[in-house]
Amino acid sequence: MGDGECGVRVLCRVRPLNEMEERAGSKFIPKISSDDTISVGGKVFMFDKVFKPNCTQEDVYRHGAKPIVGDVLSGYNGTIFAYGQTSSGKTHTMEGVLGDEKLQGVIPRIVADIFQYIYNMDENLEFHIKVSYFEIYMDKIRDLLDVTKFNLAVHEDKNRVPYVKGATERFVSSPEEVFEAIDDGKANRHVAVTNMNEHSSRSHSVFLIQVKQENIETQKKLCGKLYLVDLAGSEKVGKTGAEGTTLDEAKNINKSLSALGNVIAALADENKAHVPYRDSKLTRILQESLGGNARTSIFICCSPASYNEAETKSTLLFGQRAK
Ligand code: ADP
Ligand code: MG
Repeated sequence: MGDGECGVRVLCRVRPLNEMEERAGSKFIPKISSDDTISVGGKVFMFDKVFKPNCTQEDVYRHGAKPIVGDVLSGYNGTIFAYGQTSSGKTHTMEGVLGDEKLQGVIPRIVADIFQYIYNMDENLEFHIKVSYFEIYMDKIRDLLDVTKFNLAVHEDKNRVPYVKGATERFVSSPEEVFEAIDDGKANRHVAVTNMNEHSSRSHSVFLIQVKQENIETQKKLCGKLYLVDLAGSEKVGKTGAEGTTLDEAKNINKSLSALGNVIAALADENKAHVPYRDSKLTRILQESLGGNARTSIFICCSPASYNEAETKSTLLFGQRAK
């Protein structure tokens, strides 16, 4: 990260209209006039980057995530998260189609790059990589790598850095082992719920990659943590897609997403000394990886369809607060 560059990058991605929307005669409403400007309903928003619906997963990775990988391997912390209403493309962006070279998303590309870097490193460096995978639902943290841990607590270590106490940390030595962990976590997530789509739109999923490296000659150690977060859907209750969401669930999602919004807004505001990390479990966990010396990318995921105009505007406003 060079001088004058900000630690938080906000990138906006608009998905294409889907077949159902096309058939129903939905209009594509956003106007993307340049690679950093988008307008909806006459209101103009600017971001570090705006991706058109025909952009590739590779484009998205290159602009939104790849720079952070280098930082994490240099010992910095980072967070990448996707925000948007249900069905706006969050999971497509973060995960995409695992195992498909073209359609894989940010997470598998990060994993591939980390190991590529390690394989190319000189032999004096020793690497230890471990992953954790959990979800936050109704303000409870559930370990996706160990179903017996369904209500983990956030504690602070001796340096007062918050972390999820007792979360499984699985050592991995190849990309395949990381994908296995992701598969195991997803299978566990499925087991506990009847409708996975509904459930995933109401919970935040958090994948954590920790990279430790030690120079055997000089004993110099570097440690980097990267949080990859697929947030709960940001839609208001009562709208299709959030149907069946209980009031408690909706309140919970609202509370944690606005806590996150307040944190990123405070980080963007030079005059604000206090960043309210303590207002939610998610922001507490991310404290050392969001703001300060950490690198952050926020993917603002938008539906282009006319019937989603109000939600899309509110999504863009969320992203705007980080600028
Ligand atoms: P979310 O996680 O925000 O609920 P998804 O990522 O699951 O939304 O996307 C909803 C649907 O739209 C999925 O079928 C996904 O494959 C498709 N989709 C999302 N973004 C894109 C895109 N940029 N290009 C093509 N299809 C997309
Ligand atoms: Mg999703």
